[in-house]
Amino acid sequence: MKTEARTSTTMHASGAILLISCYELGHRPAGLTRPLRALEAAGFVPDAIDIAVEPLDAEMVARARFIGISVPMHTALRLGVHLVHRIRQINPDVSICMYGLYATLNADYLLSQGVDFCIANTASTELVELVQSVVDGEQLETQKTGFRTAKLPPLEAYAQFEDNAEKRIVGYTETTIGCKHLCTHCPIPPVYNGKFSVVERGTVLAEIQEQVSQGATHITFGDPDFLNGPRHGLRILREMHERYPNLTFDFTTKVEHILKHSKHFPEFAELGCRFVISAVESLSGTVLTILEKHHTRADVETAIDIVHGAGIALRPTWVPFTPWTSLDDYLDILAFVEMHRLVYHVDPVQYAVRLLIPPGSYLLNRPETKMLSLTLDETAFSYIWEHPDVRLDELHKTVNVLVENDARMGVDALDTFYRIWALAADMHGSRHTPLYRSKAAHLPAPRITEAWFC
Ligand code: SF4
Repeated sequence: MKTEARTSTTMHASGAILLISCYELGHRPAGLTRPLRALEAAGFVPDAIDIAVEPLDAEMVARARFIGISVPMHTALRLGVHLVHRIRQINPDVSICMYGLYATLNADYLLSQGVDFCIANTASTELVELVQSVVDGEQLETQKTGFRTAKLPPLEAYAQFEDNAEKRIVGYTETTIGCKHLCTHCPIPPVYNGKFSVVERGTVLAEIQEQVSQGATHITFGDPDFLNGPRHGLRILREMHERYPNLTFDFTTKVEHILKHSKHFPEFAELGCRFVISAVESLSGTVLTILEKHHTRADVETAIDIVHGAGIALRPTWVPFTPWTSLDDYLDILAFVEMHRLVYHVDPVQYAVRLLIPPGSYLLNRPETKMLSLTLDETAFSYIWEHPDVRLDELHKTVNVLVENDARMGVDALDTFYRIWALAADMHGSRHTPLYRSKAAHLPAPRITEAWFC
């Protein structure tokens, strides 16, 4: 962290602190809500902009003395770096802090690009401490007066829950921070090092209550893994259901946890769970070993049975392009999805996901990665790798374009899926015979209306 401090006698003035979120998967950003509360509780009067759903307000930027930019994921960081240059044009002297997972992983580069501070802000308190150190002794004039959540865009501005004709307004919260697992491809372990902590039950329930009062009828629990603390999560869900019996929810958890906590899934369904996201990533034993996922193809099948058996949809996510994934493996994922009639459970963008290896990634310690020829591209916030089979790199580019075009044109996910399969089969030189080509053959799946981007 850069420690140079700028003092300001007006840091407690309204709008002197501005927090900006770049992108958070289409939901109301936790990268704004919790730091805003923490700053307000400390007597500051911050402003906020979520550039995913509203334009950058140049006047707010011009009057700010300190701007915090939330970059919890790769897409947000790419947008955030452009934003820094725009901010510097409007307000050259403002102190800029980038916070979130990707800020610390890429701190060296960001500090060279005009960012003053890079912090993880793991507990939403580091930002307050940093602002307080910048204020450097300024007297508090503002008393704690309650939270000014009106400054955030309305929940209707964000992605919605959709299940056929059913639509719901989505609220967002997290019951835990960090993760106790060490999957090598994940950006969380280099920052949290296998540790997680719980968010106080009262805080989570207050966040839910606030969003329900603003119209939320579905809650996304965005914990890295909701079942790291299953008893804590269940207590919150039970209390939430007692207060708001019609509220539905979704959460993310790993395959291993679905198997381990299978007995809770019928209760999750009774409490309103509509879908669960699980990072399957691959079906190849080789790739799963390198990523240290601690599950097998058979475990994935068991997880589908457990979750679907409880009446909840399982939405698997994938990393189909890695240096160790063969064309056969890629086709195997497609065949698996079709076989389990999960086409509508997977956003087509998932078939174009290419492994990111950010600076500090645990993957860099794996012998299989050390054998690759890697080049760090700081501007892409990732090491660049090439697949030993050039067809895979070509397929990645083609699938990427196809998925983007189809999404823009509103093509049905089933059609996109079979077009991807035809491309991969052509490249493989094999024949592709769909098992279940009709829409009716595939299970419908509830979803959030924002395709997944990391
Ligand atoms: S992939 Fe999921 S389970 Fe693995 S370290 Fe990341 S958050 Fe934890």
